Amino acid sequence: LTTNIDTLAGYLTRFADTGVLNRIGGQDLPAQSGLTFDNHSPVDETFICTVAQSGAADIDAAAQAAKAAFPAWRDMPAAQRKAILHKIADGIVARAEEIALCECWDTGQALRFMSKAALRGAANFRFFADKATAARDGQHLPSPTLMNITTRVPIGPVGVITPWNTPFMLSTWKIAPALAAGCTVVHKPAEFSPVTARILMEIAEQAGLPPGVWNLVNGFGEDAGRALTEHPDIKAIAFVGETKTGSMIMKQGADTLKRVHFELGGKNPVVVFDDADLDRALDAAIFMIYSLNGERCTSSSRLLLHAPIADAFTAKLIERVNRIKVGHPLDPTTEVGPLIHKTHFTKVCSYFDIARQDGATIAAGGAALDQPGYYVKPTLFTDATNDMRIAQQEIFGPVLTTLTFQTEAEALAIANDVPYGLTGYVWTNDLTRALRFTNALEAGMIWVNSENVRHLPTPFGGVKTSGIGRDGGDWSFEFYMEQKHIGLAL
Ligand code: NAD
Repeated sequence: LTTNIDTLAGYLTRFADTGVLNRIGGQDLPAQSGLTFDNHSPVDETFICTVAQSGAADIDAAAQAAKAAFPAWRDMPAAQRKAILHKIADGIVARAEEIALCECWDTGQALRFMSKAALRGAANFRFFADKATAARDGQHLPSPTLMNITTRVPIGPVGVITPWNTPFMLSTWKIAPALAAGCTVVHKPAEFSPVTARILMEIAEQAGLPPGVWNLVNGFGEDAGRALTEHPDIKAIAFVGETKTGSMIMKQGADTLKRVHFELGGKNPVVVFDDADLDRALDAAIFMIYSLNGERCTSSSRLLLHAPIADAFTAKLIERVNRIKVGHPLDPTTEVGPLIHKTHFTKVCSYFDIARQDGATIAAGGAALDQPGYYVKPTLFTDATNDMRIAQQEIFGPVLTTLTFQTEAEALAIANDVPYGLTGYVWTNDLTRALRFTNALEAGMIWVNSENVRHLPTPFGGVKTSGIGRDGGDWSFEFYMEQKHIGLAL
């Protein structure tokens, strides 16, 4: 821990003078208003750095830079774009330690998970680098009178708006396919975690990305974020964040007919039947809610237990939850670090009272840690019913609600009875039941007898209020590109 804290201090000194500036057209720029805001660590509330507090004028400058850089980037041979994206991946690997340490300090996420998240960022760049050369491939659809062909072209400059949970990995997940498709980018990272977005941008330019192809504008959602979604030169918005923000962005983008891609909230069920491998199911259920501080869109925040195994399973769960190590995120043994900021911490803690008011039992945790920083104890609610707020609302912390069911039909009804539909996890060794259940489960992504394992060629996204559109594989290109049809008379 001490070594990690010292190493981190070395990495952060560079932000001491200027703070986190914008990067527009290859230049470091403060906000045109001269305003900054202070960024604090959730670990102990200490000051990290100032951050440019941008507004519409800064977004306009970045959109202009992205527009000016677009034709040359679009027309660059795909093999060259591919080579630059691979170099960005190399740069991420070379600075993976710096990225991981800074991300932990900025977000409170535990190092054991953030080291992997940094490398996931490199993998995202490599995956889309390799797809860049085929991004424009089309089809030949002949008719009796026409030689019809299709091709795909990049849509233009795009806006990318990212949240504070695993901000580095999520930025790469959006920006890599946009660049591979031939789009230019204006990125507005979350105000609560600006540090690694700035490092990523530097890596990209050092890898040879031409100025203006990728621009970074910091600031608050209601100013910089809003201006980005309203800008006429920005052709599409890729957004990851809360469902209610997605709804606002759709309204804000309406006048300019913005194409939108939304990855939003979730209240994801993990359903355990009595015939499942219960030890594996227990490990996976714990991992999917208590890793990444529970600040994870795909977390399994509702655990649906088959009545015959419910009591024994819950007893083991309580014992395991009480053993989870909460602590400093830079300590390699820490499993749960502090939550991102005070408002979120207060929101998560409010559910301890809400659970009591609604009649549930707090079987583990249910309190903050009595120390500086936004630490909460890993929490388990039992004796819940699905109409309770703890079973309906996205808490986004290390907080799990268990529910019990008697029949498969009842499990399905409970699983689907939420506004969200991002992921679902089903544990059973009955293959027919697995097929029947997953067919009827309302979720964009479902895993059977597995925790969430991301495979980049597969579609990622949610149904209902969990999102619009899909990422991954060719689906990302469908968003960042336009289909074009050309008919040649025979
Ligand atoms: P948020 O919606 O508060 O903020 C996300 C981003 O939107 C930030 O950069 C913010 O500045 C910006 N923003 C806020 N208001 C805006 C506006 N009016 N116009 C434009 N931009 C605006 O989300 P958050 O609290 O940072 O992140 C947590 C949420 O993200 C959770 O709900 C979580 O489930 C969701 N999430 C979803 C996925 C997914 O893949 N579905 C992945 C990660 C996180």
